[in-house]
Amino acid sequence: MPPASSFPYTLLLHGGSGRLQPAGTPFPQQAAYTHALTEAAQAGYVVLAGGGNSVAAVEASLRLLEDSPLFNAGRGSVFSHAGVNEMDAALMDGATLRAGAVAGVRTVRNPISVARAVMERSAHVLLTGAGADEFAAAVGLETVPAAWFRTEERWHQWQALQQANALAPPTKPFDSPASKYGTVGAVALDQAGHLAAGTSTGGQLNKKYGRVGDSPLIGAGTYANHVCAVSGTGHGEFFIRHAVAHDIAALMEYRGLSVQQAAELVVHHKVAPAGGKGGVIALDLHGNVAMPYSTEGMFWAVVRADGRIETNVCPMVIE
Ligand code: ASP
Repeated sequence: MPPASSFPYTLLLHGGSGRLQPAGTPFPQQAAYTHALTEAAQAGYVVLAGGGNSVAAVEASLRLLEDSPLFNAGRGSVFSHAGVNEMDAALMDGATLRAGAVAGVRTVRNPISVARAVMERSAHVLLTGAGADEFAAAVGLETVPAAWFRTEERWHQWQALQQANALAPPTKPFDSPASKYGTVGAVALDQAGHLAAGTSTGGQLNKKYGRVGDSPLIGAGTYANHVCAVSGTGHGEFFIRHAVAHDIAALMEYRGLSVQQAAELVVHHKVAPAGGKGGVIALDLHGNVAMPYSTEGMFWAVVRADGRIETNVCPMVIE
């Protein structure tokens, strides 16, 4: 039996959004995705059920998803135009409004843990590139060779895009396809009633010029305060312009919307009409969850104080 708690501790995860496969197409990876999301939810649940805080629960879940080659985060990240893996991550503690984030890291095994270290062990919020990698090594986080992040699927995906671009060069200087998603995120409410949010991603396939998406930007792809915790996935440029995660929190705090109303309003009535596809997971202080998405599908999992884990693994196209 979980210990008695005044707050309905809850953890909600996402594993990216995207297109659904044509009806009837086999989806052999379904069991693997379900397993990975279940294990990640379980890892976060163990922290919450043991009285740990929401920041630790988010980190524990996301480390597992980063280590899984199935998701576009950590191991299994998409390749940039230069043929390297460059990862972004952020973590925010809603109880204190402290936050940490990294962008464009290449050598640290778990970018979400560097984000936490930036929050807890530096005076800053966002570190980028080689400096962020240097910080990670300096605080003793595990570094790995570039080969750790590489999967054959992602490498072939990148090569196929280079070949296609050689035949029909993109018309714009930076014409990365917007349909390649797969980020991971987590939001949690702990027994003390504290919320936290985290997001980790390899970003957009074929990104150039040090492109950074919404995931590591506090208020865009990641946000938590005393009202709600939000993590997004989708076309990052739109999530940045619409300050998606903070907008959801603001609608709840200033206009009294429910988490469901606020998340739906922003995803379906602000970002989608502007042309930005994607989704969010959002959680309030009472354990209410919302996971709207304007793409055809989104992977998510939720676990509550009773330990029951619910997953949604639809047959998405793994791009
Ligand atoms: N939002 C991420 C980005 O634009 C991509 C994703 O969610 O998969 O970097």
